[in-house]
Amino acid sequence: MKWVYFFGDGQAEGRADMKNLLGGKGANLAEMTNLGIPVPPGFTLTTEVCNQYYENDRALPADLDAQIKAALKETECIMGQQFGGTDNPLLVSVRSGARSSMPGMMETVLNVGLTTKTIPALIAKSNNPRFVYDAYRRLIMMYADVVMEKAEGIETQDGTGIRHQLEGLIDEYKKSHGHREDLDLSADDWQTLSEKFKQLIKQQLGSDFPDDPHDQLMGGISAVFQSWMGKRAIAYRRIEGIPGEWGTAVNVQAMVYGNLGDNSATGVAFTRNPATGENLFFGEWLPNAQGEDVVAGIRTPNSLNELTRPEESKDQISLEEFMPDVYIELDKIRTELETHYRDMQDVEFTIQEGRLWMLQTRTGKRNGPAAIKMAVDMANEELITHQEAVLRVNPSQLDELLHPMVDRQAEVSAQLLAKGLPAGPGGASGQIVFTADDAESQAAEGKTVILVRDETSPEDVHGMHAAVAILTAKGGMTSHAALVARGWGMCCIVGCGALKIDAAGKRMTVDGQTLQEGDWLTLNGTAGKVYAGQLPLKDSDPEGNREYAQLLEWADSFRTLKVRTNADRPEDAAQARAFGAQGIGLCRTEHMFFDPQRIMAMRKMILSGDLSERRAAVMELLPFQKQDFKDILRAMHDLPVTIRLLDPPLHEFITLTDAQTAELATELGLSSQDIEDRVAGLHELNPMLGHRGCRLGIAYPEITEMQARAIFEATAELIKEGVKVLPEVMVPLVGTDTEYRHQEALIRRVAGEVIEKLGVQFEYLVGTMIELPRACLTADEIAADAQFFSFGTNDLTQTTYGFSRDDIGGFLPAYLEQQILPHDPFQSLDIAGVGQLVEIAVEKGRGVNPKLKIGICGEHGGDPASVEFCHRTGLDYVSCSPFRVPVARLAAAQAALREK
Ligand code: ADP
Ligand code: MG
Ligand code: MG
Repeated sequence: MKWVYFFGDGQAEGRADMKNLLGGKGANLAEMTNLGIPVPPGFTLTTEVCNQYYENDRALPADLDAQIKAALKETECIMGQQFGGTDNPLLVSVRSGARSSMPGMMETVLNVGLTTKTIPALIAKSNNPRFVYDAYRRLIMMYADVVMEKAEGIETQDGTGIRHQLEGLIDEYKKSHGHREDLDLSADDWQTLSEKFKQLIKQQLGSDFPDDPHDQLMGGISAVFQSWMGKRAIAYRRIEGIPGEWGTAVNVQAMVYGNLGDNSATGVAFTRNPATGENLFFGEWLPNAQGEDVVAGIRTPNSLNELTRPEESKDQISLEEFMPDVYIELDKIRTELETHYRDMQDVEFTIQEGRLWMLQTRTGKRNGPAAIKMAVDMANEELITHQEAVLRVNPSQLDELLHPMVDRQAEVSAQLLAKGLPAGPGGASGQIVFTADDAESQAAEGKTVILVRDETSPEDVHGMHAAVAILTAKGGMTSHAALVARGWGMCCIVGCGALKIDAAGKRMTVDGQTLQEGDWLTLNGTAGKVYAGQLPLKDSDPEGNREYAQLLEWADSFRTLKVRTNADRPEDAAQARAFGAQGIGLCRTEHMFFDPQRIMAMRKMILSGDLSERRAAVMELLPFQKQDFKDILRAMHDLPVTIRLLDPPLHEFITLTDAQTAELATELGLSSQDIEDRVAGLHELNPMLGHRGCRLGIAYPEITEMQARAIFEATAELIKEGVKVLPEVMVPLVGTDTEYRHQEALIRRVAGEVIEKLGVQFEYLVGTMIELPRACLTADEIAADAQFFSFGTNDLTQTTYGFSRDDIGGFLPAYLEQQILPHDPFQSLDIAGVGQLVEIAVEKGRGVNPKLKIGICGEHGGDPASVEFCHRTGLDYVSCSPFRVPVARLAAAQAALREK
């Protein structure tokens, strides 16, 4: 069995596409070697060795040793050095490297092979004792930490591990000798410290630091394999969904030294700026340093070139100035790597006495704006195709462009107050208010307020809308606050358990700190972070971002799935339109009734004693509804608008205060007691499955009639004005075709009456929301009459699982923790179950009615994985909240491209 793959001197046995076997680091070291880029020679132990190691009870394969020895010989040959040699000793690094990078999880040991025998030889060879003892103490520190402590499974508290203790010795030593920087320590100092290190290790860990090069090498190799099953690595894999069977590879590589003096250096670089996407070579370097010094932040690194040097480091010298020739060579490699990999690379390099060596390359991580800019720039540079550019950007990364964000710099130095769930992205700063009414009145005075509540309810909506952000102590990602905020693209953090809110006293305590009404807060809704005080924000301006507009234009040219929006108000409709929505997929009508002006009429209608009373109350609502529909249809002129008839259980409208009860009693000529009795009569044990949806319109047909009349009169009047409108009337929560036909007949009758009365012809559709399993299973019967289906996947998920979305917070965390569910099914569609019902309904529906228009509305419409499912299932459109529209456009394009 071949366990070992060699690379060096322009030739490698591996390639970039062998990541599964060689890990990311090993595969790319091989690739760079084959490209003729200077890479120190070495070899990779495959991920199969790791798997064998675990299958064989943590023993390495028997024939591995011979293969290591052979590869080591080749390495020695190229370097002209011997491992353990007393003439010109070879040192190596032992580096972990899994398929996908696991930052900070896995281990690396440098300078392996330094022993009491090889030290004098390396001193003689380098004529630099300081370098040798600096290297030695680094080896001891890393080895003790990685091999002797972590790999042995020794658990330590934060800040008490051996590495920390050894660092403590250095600090003590520096203090007592009056040194400030590591660079101030001499060869003798490091030698003395190395001896102290070995003593402490023996004392703490009970064994000697190995003085044999092969023991060191094999110890290092086993430790890397051990680290694959370390606690941290296992936890990380679980979060990232990386399977344990992948295993890690180990790279053994000849050391090159960045710490040989002032013409040596080490650094990291990105082929483009990962924070802005600018096509500028961007990186950091340190003179006379080794490996991790740049990342570890022990010393402040210098910038790579003049162009990217920040204001603050004017007095530091860039590599471009300091070593112009090396810089030019590095810049050439930058271009070569980008051309070869066709993507931004993140590289490590070391300069040994003026000679450049590359130690790592991988595709670099980037933030949202940078991802968009790079993708579009690279396509324009003809490095990649337009299709590739569209596939390069993760749809959720668009979010970062669509909302104002807390200034990054300011956030880094700010003190975190509390953490919650990131329910609505973006950043916001405002003064605290604790009630919806206060939010409304203070906002009207011109204040910028953040509404802080235990949780929110539909009655808080006016205050939520007046606030710039919402913060709740309770609730999950699908709580009322989260849902409303997402719909409005509002910054929102929910489930922030550290808040102890005293709404009556207008204050809250967080971790011992008390905040009052009027105090400033800043929220980072993208990360769920809460800060006290007012941090600066950076405005969003997607339209002003050329690359963003270009990327979405390309995306639109590839997608077949249409994207609509869920919007109840003309402002939201206009926003969504600006984001590229092709219609409204769900306009709910119930919010329109919560307005203070209308709620009275609504309550009268609900609590009226007989039909004529109810009819009178309903007709009071007609002018309001008609105006609402006119506004929203006008905002969406030329595009279809799906309007859903009244859906929620009526009791949501009749939570009454004593004063409201009294007022209603007067209006209806009843006693307060009568009102209370009628409210009690409407009480339901399980309202989610109670008198709601089309059941309302069937029991109270006058409601459906009024709503249909409002829609059609609005339509007719707009058509008269010359505005082209396309209303689609949607009957909610249908379970049987008879329910649907009952409502459809009413709606069509009213349409006929309006056409007749106003003398205007108009087009309209009647269809239904599919949100019950029975509707899916009998979709052929319903589709015989319906002109469209819109899957209400929120309710369909509730009714398929039998989960109440409002109560899922009680058990979902445990379900996710124990992997009973892979994710929250209300956020990403459950394709196996709910998705299957959707497929059945599509097939049965189209079977009898090939022209049936089909879409989905609900939270899932903006979730990229769910969008992909909708594309595959042949839906005509998805509908999502306005701020998700660009996300869905990109996701739909990616779904179409991936299918090819
Ligand atoms: P990580 O995955 O944590 O970056 P690496 O294996 O890349 O770990 O190594 C850690 C540091 O040591 C990096 O800065 C790398 O460049 C440096 N390094 C690794 N091997 C060598 C080597 N053979 N010569 C010089 N520096 C090395
Ligand atoms: Mg690295
Ligand atoms: Mg529903």
